[in-house]
This record gives sequence, C-alpha cells and structure tokens, in this order.
Amino acid sequence: MSVSPVEKSPYPYLLSPLRVGQQVLRNRVVMGSMHTRLEYGENAVSRQAAFFGERAGGGVALIITGGVAPNWNGRIEEGARTLEREDQLDEHRPVVAAVHAYGGKILLQILHTGAYAKHGDIVGISDIRSPINSRAPRPLTAAEIEATIEDFVRCSALAVQAGYDGVEFMGSEGYFLNQCVTTRMNNRTDEWGGSLQKRIRIPVDIVRHARARIGPQPIISYRMSATDLVEGGQTGGEIDTLARALEAAGADMLSVGVGWHESVVPTIAYMAPRGAFIFAASRLKAVVRIPVVGSNRINMPQVAEEILARGEVDLVSLARPLLADPCFVNKSAAGRAAEINTCIACNQACLDYIFANKTASCLVNPRACRETRFPLTPGRVSRRIAVVGAGPAGLSVAVNAALRGHRVTLYEASGEIGGQINLALRIPGKTEFGEMLRYYRTQLELHRVDVRLNTAVSAEQLLRDRYDAVVVATGTLPRTPDIPGIDHPSTVSYLDVLTGRVDVGRRVAIIGTGGIGYDVACFLTAPRDVPDTIDAYLDTWGVDPTIAIPGGIRAPTVHTTPRAVTMFQRSAGRPGERLGKSTGWIHRIELRRRGVKALAGCTYRRIDDEGLHYAIDGRDHLMPVDRVVICAGQEPNGAMASTLAQAGCEVHLIGGARVAAELDAVRATEDGFHLAYEF
Ligand code: FAD
Ligand code: NAP
Ligand code: SF4
Repeated sequence: MSVSPVEKSPYPYLLSPLRVGQQVLRNRVVMGSMHTRLEYGENAVSRQAAFFGERAGGGVALIITGGVAPNWNGRIEEGARTLEREDQLDEHRPVVAAVHAYGGKILLQILHTGAYAKHGDIVGISDIRSPINSRAPRPLTAAEIEATIEDFVRCSALAVQAGYDGVEFMGSEGYFLNQCVTTRMNNRTDEWGGSLQKRIRIPVDIVRHARARIGPQPIISYRMSATDLVEGGQTGGEIDTLARALEAAGADMLSVGVGWHESVVPTIAYMAPRGAFIFAASRLKAVVRIPVVGSNRINMPQVAEEILARGEVDLVSLARPLLADPCFVNKSAAGRAAEINTCIACNQACLDYIFANKTASCLVNPRACRETRFPLTPGRVSRRIAVVGAGPAGLSVAVNAALRGHRVTLYEASGEIGGQINLALRIPGKTEFGEMLRYYRTQLELHRVDVRLNTAVSAEQLLRDRYDAVVVATGTLPRTPDIPGIDHPSTVSYLDVLTGRVDVGRRVAIIGTGGIGYDVACFLTAPRDVPDTIDAYLDTWGVDPTIAIPGGIRAPTVHTTPRAVTMFQRSAGRPGERLGKSTGWIHRIELRRRGVKALAGCTYRRIDDEGLHYAIDGRDHLMPVDRVVICAGQEPNGAMASTLAQAGCEVHLIGGARVAAELDAVRATEDGFHLAYEF
C-alpha cells in the first residue's frame, strides 16, 4: 500500500488519507476498541456519544466501538450488551451520529468471548478451560456453530442498519474466534477442528457470509492475532494462511492484536518499548494486499510517523492514548505535539478500573469516560487561588483551575515540578512518567499559571497574600517504622537510594512490599549490560519474532543482577498481591527471575552491625546485609492546612497531604481534577 505524504504536514504519513475497501479514511489513526463499561448504567447512550464524539472531534479517522456480543452466550459478563434485534438499534444511532457529526467513521466491534466469558452461560469451541477463568465452557454442537456464524452475520447487518460504517470481528487477544483457530483451545475432531483449514473455517465463513449480506460498501475489519504469545498458539505460517483466507473472503482491513490475556509477556505496560510489537503486524503486511493496522505502545505521533514511514503498517491503532488525550490527532496536525497528554502505559485507571468492575478512566486524564459529568465550562467567577506543592495533585488542580478561568499561583519547594513522579521515572521501565511532567510544563505555561519553584511557602506568607482559596497539595513524608536500630548507619530511606545519595552495597534488605518497595527492588537489581532496545526486550521476555515456534514464545533470557535483594513484609499473604492487577504480575515475575526473595509474616527484631534480625512463626533469623532500605509507606504532610483554616482562610487538602493510605498518582490527580471543578 503506497502512502502519499501530505506536503508541509508535521506528520505527512500519519495525516494522509487512505482508501479502505470502498471508503476513504481522513488519516491513518484508528481508535482501537476498548472495554470501558460506558455502555452500562444511566445515560449510557449519551455518555458514549459524548465520549466517542469528542474523539472524532479530536481528529481520529476511524473509531472501533467496545465489543458487542452477537448473541447471549458471547457476552463478556453479566450486563454486557448484545446486538441481536432491530429494537436494540436506538442504543447505537446517537453514538454513530455523534461521530459522523465530526467527519469521523465508526465500526461496531463484534466480540464473542467464548471461554473467557465471566457468566454462567459460557460456551466454547471445546470444553477446554482458559487458565484465567474458573469456569470451563460447554462445547458448542456443530448446529450451534452454524447458528453462531449466523449470529455474527445478522449482527453485522444490524450494525449497518444502525448507521455504522462497517464492522470489526474480534479475532485476537484469545477471544472466541482466536480460540477456534488454535490447537491450544480447539480439540474438535469434526469439520470445525483438526486441520488448519477446519480450524479457520469459522472466522473465514463469518467474513464471507457477512460480506455477502451487507454488500461491498461497509468496511469489514478483522482483528487478528499476529502472534499469540501462549503455548499451543499459532505458528507464523498458520497466521499467514488465516490472513490470506480472510482477505479472499472479503475483509477490507486486518487490525493486528498481540498476545492473549493469559500471556506472560507484557505487551502494553510501560516497560514494553514503544512500538515493540510492530514486527508482528509488518509480517502480515507482507502477505496481504489489504491495509494492515499496527498497535501496541504507539503513544506519540512521532512513533506512529516513523512506523508508517518505514512502511511497516498502513494505519496505527491507538486506544489508551485516546483516553489520555481525545485531541491527539488535531494537536499533531497543528504542530502542537508537546501539548499532547501522553498515555504513560500504566494501566492504572483504564484496565485496573475494569478489573475492579469500575468504569474506565485515565490516570493522566480523569475526565476520560466522564465527559458529560465534567463539561468543558469555565468557573462561575474567576478567583485567585494558591496551590502549594507541584506533585500530581497540585499540578492537576493548578492546570484545570487555570483552564476554567481562575488565576493560579503554584508554589513548589524543590527546583522542579512533579513531586514523587520524579522518583518514579528513575525506575527502569517507568521513563514514560516523564511525559506526564512534559505535558504539565506545557499546560502551566499555556494557561499562564504563575509557577514559583524553590519556594517552600509558609502558612503565614499565604495568609499575607490574601488568596481567595489555598490548596494544600504538599504530599507525604516517608514513614519511619518503630524498629530497634532504625537509626543504625546501614539503614536508609528509599529517597536516599533513588536519588543516589548512598552506596547500597551488594546485599540489601527492603522493609515493605508496597509499590515503592517493588520499584526499589527493581531499581537495585536492574541488569547493567542489557541494551535498551526492542530486540533485547523481546529476548528478555522470551518472544520469538520469527514465530517459528507455535505461539511465538521461547525460554526467556535471564540476566545477571548486580546485588542480592530480599524483601520483607509483616502481614501474611502473598507479597505484591496488592500491586495493580495489570502490572503487578510483571513485577513479581521480573523480580523472581532476578533471584529476589520476598518474605511474609515477619516480625522485625532489630537492625545492628550483623544485619537485619527478624522472626517468622516465632523462629528468629538473621539476614546479614550491607543496607536496610525502608519502604514502609507514607504519612500525610498537610499540617499547614489547619493553620490556614484557623486563620479563616478557605483551604482545601488534596492528594497525599489529605490521606496517605491507598495513595497513588491516580488518586492524587483525581483529587486535583475534582477540586478544580468545584471552583
Ligand atoms: P507529591 O508527589 O509528594 O508532591 C508534593 C509536592 O509538594 C512535592 O513536590 C513537595 O516538594 C511539595 N511541597 C511540600 N511542602 C511544600 C511547601 N511548603 N511549599 C511548596 N511545596 C511544597 N504512583 C502511581 O500511581 N503509579 C506509579 O507507578 C508510581 N510509582 C512510584 C514510584 C516511586 C519510586 C514513588 C516514590 C512513587 C510512586 N508513585 C506511583 C506514587 C505517586 O508518585 C504519589 O502517589 C504521588 O506523587 C502523590 O502526589 P501528591 O501530589 O499528593 O504528592
Ligand atoms: P504501601 O503500598 O502502603 O506499602 C507500604 C509497605 O510498608 C507495606 O508493604 C507494609 O506492609 C509496610 N509497612 C507499613 N507500615 C509499616 C510499619 N510501621 N513498619 C514496617 N512496615 C510497614 O506504600 P508505598 O510502597 O510507600 O507506596 C506509596 C504509594 O505509591 C502506594 O499507594 C502505591 O500504590 C503507590 N505506588 C504505586 C506504584 C505502582 O506501580 N502502581 C508504584 C509505586 C508506588 P506490612 O504492613 O505488611 O509490613
Ligand atoms: Fe494510559 Fe495509564 Fe491513562 Fe490507561 S490510565 S490510558 S495506561 S495513562
């Protein structure tokens, strides 16, 4: 597929139009499908219309909806939607209209979850249970398979009737259609299992029959797994065969997915380098003539532009980056990429919210999926507001209050904005947090926030300056646990370690297994001689880019680590189990491979010249170490608020200064954002 660069455009490949089937897309940005839960609850239709409409208004060419099941069994969970009847079309028409009003196009994604379904009516191609589901599916009969194909086809026709520009069949990430094509999940011996031709029959029949039913004009996109990253997955040759068969059956476009939900390779979290999995999509581009869409960790226009300019794919799919910033495309086109609120691939408020049965949102953009609740309107009266502390809580309130027309002065004791985020981005794999600070720097300037760095402002000073309101966002102080010998010279705080103030030595004990304890362990055991390249990353996680082996995985490469680290916690239970669901498993695997031990149920006896003395189940132990690093949580640092309140000042406490327990950057940013909407 040749690309004709748009002259004088900052991103000539990214912003050039492309014909897909019988339709023309205005640029190369596809908004990938996301399960947001916006389709549940009150005002679901208007909330979706606002969400998708803003993204179309932000310049995206093609939007793929969240997955909608073609039948009852295919739903992802109780309450999830199906599209089976004409009387359901009114749930879709306003959403389609909102996207069309901005010149965007939208496809309905049709998703059958098969063995992944989280409800009692679970069916599958076989009776094989997915390792991430407690329930095994009931295998479909041959007649039910025929009926399921018809359900997909009928759903496609209904989508077109609702006004969608076409459909996408979800055949990746380990869902039903992906399950059908692998021997990992398909053990049938009838005409739907066994040989490759029989295993791929369901997806190919769906595409062929859907094309015949809806005609040539609507787009048919097929989201296919370009590498499964699970044992018993497809080989590269099998994937190529499926791609060609889908093209021949009438697909207009192949959108590429990478890995299954149970894969033990991080494919979207921050440690995955940008564009790390484009190799899988570009393999497919070599075997078909229809456009191929690449995805995973494409979070800035320059990354997308380079991938497109190299001809690796024809379009890029951005999902989380459009939660983070609906105006990604328009900002790129206007040469304002520095203003993009970049997805830092933390998964904390999107995927982790979904796992916690909440509506998705975004750490860096708490307005995401809450567009109707937080309209872009100015405050009633412009006020003079002082914000104390430029961590995520202070930055969020300062920028959003200024955006709403208030005059804001932001005080920061240190010489840089960011608070604890400056420590986070020193952790290997977490450099994306730097984008968050780049975004805030740009926004502070754009909205004329008066930023006073190196200013540890006092309550007295703030009272003298007579602000209309003061926001105390002064964060936390590290907790000093009550352990005999806590002031022994071998004992240091995580702050000393991460800022490089101390030499840590070769044997280290870490007290605390929270997010910071894990990050410090990761920091201290990071292998020294591994280059920061995509190849090295794939090698470390055992990814075979040739996909010669079924599933495209092999043994991971284990690197030598510079020191021996042991982590301790007082509570019982598996260390690290409270880490974020979508990233915690990665940290646990990574540290296990580096030989880090984590001990639970510990009582700390003392720290002395011999090392750390502790007991488990009443039995005393000694761990000889060079250093004991304290990562035992935080205490709020908001005392100035009561002085201000006593003097009659309107004062607001947010972030860690308000409550230190359960604090993270999501809560800090949300606190600031919500407060800005109260002004
Ligand atoms: P802080 O970030 O602590 O900011 C408070 C600011 O106030 C500081 O800059 C301080 O200098 C300033 N200040 C204090 N007193 C005054 C004064 N009198 N005048 C002016 N300024 C003052 N969270 C996540 O969600 N995800 C992660 O992956 C993650 N990783 C982390 C990794 C590490 C190593 C660390 C240390 C933290 C991590 N966090 C992470 C936690 C996250 O950074 C914090 O929860 C968040 O920064 C708290 O925000 P805050 O604004 O409340 O406070
Ligand atoms: P944390 O998650 O609350 O963990 C504190 C640890 O210290 C726990 O392991 C706790 O375990 C231990 N502890 C608490 N009180 C203690 C005491 N008196 N004596 C000894 N040990 C004690 O806090 P954190 O690690 O400081 O992290 C701060 C915040 O930043 C967290 O909310 C975290 O979510 C966030 N963060 C997130 C990430 C991420 O990747 N999402 C990364 C870093 C930080 P026991 O009580 O069992 O001993
Ligand atoms: Fe990206 Fe994190 Fe926002 Fe999810 S929560 S969209 S990963 S920045």
